[in-house]
Amino acid sequence: MIKSFGYAAPSATGALAPFAFERREPGPRDVQIEILYCGVCHSDLHTVRGEWPGTVWPAIPGHEILGRVTRVGNQVTKVKVGDTAAVGCMVDSCRSCSECADDLEQFCTSGAIFTYNSKDKHTGGITYGGYSNRIVVDEHFVLTVPKNLDPAGAAPLLCAGITTYSPLRHWEVQPGHRVGVVGLGGLGHMALKLARAMGAEVVLFTTSPGKAADAKRLGADDVIISKDAAEMQRHTGSFHLILDTVSVAHDLDAYTALLRRNGSLVLLGVPPTPHSGPSAFNLIFGRRRVSGSLIGGMRETQEMLDFCGAHGIVSDVEVIPIQSINDAYERMLRSDVKYRFVIDMASLAKDEPRG
Ligand code: NAP
Ligand code: ZN
Ligand code: ZN
Repeated sequence: MIKSFGYAAPSATGALAPFAFERREPGPRDVQIEILYCGVCHSDLHTVRGEWPGTVWPAIPGHEILGRVTRVGNQVTKVKVGDTAAVGCMVDSCRSCSECADDLEQFCTSGAIFTYNSKDKHTGGITYGGYSNRIVVDEHFVLTVPKNLDPAGAAPLLCAGITTYSPLRHWEVQPGHRVGVVGLGGLGHMALKLARAMGAEVVLFTTSPGKAADAKRLGADDVIISKDAAEMQRHTGSFHLILDTVSVAHDLDAYTALLRRNGSLVLLGVPPTPHSGPSAFNLIFGRRRVSGSLIGGMRETQEMLDFCGAHGIVSDVEVIPIQSINDAYERMLRSDVKYRFVIDMASLAKDEPRG
């Protein structure tokens, strides 16, 4: 086993703090990565605070991982020592079910092994995420990062990027489509950039009037303050697709009403409590749909990274030392992040035990 080190939440209410643990030695198909940057996703917060069922503590979150390859097993072909490589939300799946065969490992019928808080078949414990100095992952779940992308800005592509790219692709967004994005946080700002790059007309719905200028810079053609009912009503029946990235429960009918015929409201945010709506009236008139989407498979994640490389797209990040993580969580809850915190993992050395 390899001595490793990171930051873990000790309980639902305890602050994240330094934590020593072990990673497995790389097997023939494994890649060992020294983590340089890890993005801070709202799912990390939901998990460590026990807002979703199933958290096992101590919990090391983090699934927007970018680093340098330091060891590879003798059967690894995808990367070599010294390469920049990335790991997203999954580290394993059965690789044989119909979902895995369709490159949709996130829907693996045996259950995808997520990067943190999943059962770890190698250690018998749970998986530990990227708020740590290194990770060991089967090469199938390792991504390569286009060289032109800033590494800190590229880290959030591994969750915020793929989670918004996948539904934009699935719903075949193209020029002439009107796409709404609800919430300007980590996911929301990537949705603006990606939908814009795909040629859509993009509209941001926000509760934060102060974000309007940024939203336009990030790719929004228009910004609507979602608390303004009259303004919302002006857009009734006009959207092909709306991506809802909000992390708290709200009324879905504020958005189903804005869809065109056959339009879809796609839920990406996973609030701990149920939304209200949708009303049957809003769905049957116009054959509108409410759907959901979960990250993306490995093939699509690589496609997204390559798309971002081709379009020069990275996340707008605020790089923080890991010692600021608890404060960063409080700021994320206040919607005070532009637009993704990314941990500079070199800062971990300060806390690391010597020897
Ligand atoms: P985030 O950076 O905190 O952004 C969430 C945004 O929601 C905020 O910036 C804010 O936007 C809006 N918001 C917050 N509180 C609100 C309130 N009370 N009413 C209305 N809007 C509010 O979070 P994130 O990292 O983008 O993640 C968003 C959600 O997606 C989380 O629930 C996360 O767990 C989930 N997620 C899902 C997947 C998936 O595969 N489906 C993947 C990753 C994350 P404004 O200030 O613009 O209103
Ligand atoms: Zn995430
Ligand atoms: Zn499977």
